[in-house]
Amino acid sequence: VTALLLDLDGVLYEGERALPGAADTVAWLAQQNIPHLFLTNTTSRPRSVLVEKLAGFDIHTTVDRILTPPVAATRWLTNRGVDSVALFVPEATQSEFKAWRLTSETPDAVVVGDLGEVWDFSTLNRAFRLLMSEPHPPLVALGMTRYWQAPDGLRLDTGPFVRALEYAAGVEAVVMGKPAGPFFHAALDILGATANETIMIGDDIRGDIDGAQGAGLRAVLVRTGKYRPADLELGVNPNDVIPSVAEVPTWYPGPANPRPE
Ligand SMILES: [Mg+2]
Repeated sequence: VTALLLDLDGVLYEGERALPGAADTVAWLAQQNIPHLFLTNTTSRPRSVLVEKLAGFDIHTTVDRILTPPVAATRWLTNRGVDSVALFVPEATQSEFKAWRLTSETPDAVVVGDLGEVWDFSTLNRAFRLLMSEPHPPLVALGMTRYWQAPDGLRLDTGPFVRALEYAAGVEAVVMGKPAGPFFHAALDILGATANETIMIGDDIRGDIDGAQGAGLRAVLVRTGKYRPADLELGVNPNDVIPSVAEVPTWYPGPANPRPE
């Protein structure tokens, strides 16, 4: 059985418009019991909002099929037996960490997300001091995006703050979010699949294709979303290129009726 990981934006929809065939493909995945997850780097909206957005496109899935950086982080924390965490994440993201004891002293892990305008010197310095405590707690980053386009202009995202903390504390963050390996590993862990029986489908040659291949998966590029022909000249070679997600049922390499999940 081949498991599938699918990107959302640019694969199932573009902006506020579903891509043709996306709803049928997702229905086909469910009907055929093909193990699959949707991978997105979005941290600003809870998964339930993404499920509602998809439902608006007549694409039907469930919250537990959507993997976001906070969810991957909780998986990592669980596997590490982490008990207490210090959170530097926006309020909307905090609810994903309900199962952990929140502490501002000697945490087992420090989790950093897109705090936006909440960042100031004392907040950043507080995270730094926690990372310097003995034994050093791991730094878990909910993505390494450098900046994003806000309505009023470009804004710093999570990456620059994580880099500052890594630099100051002399540590390397465990990054959750494409293209980082731990994010794909969390997806495999949830599906109970190995890298070589799993294929990532995405429109981003770097985040989806290069990232997945770096984690040992195969990766298929769709010619929708942010895809541009020049993407194929960047030295990254997708295992396959298909016109769009609509082709997945005819392209899918597994048996017609794989084992139920
Ligand atoms: Mg995309």
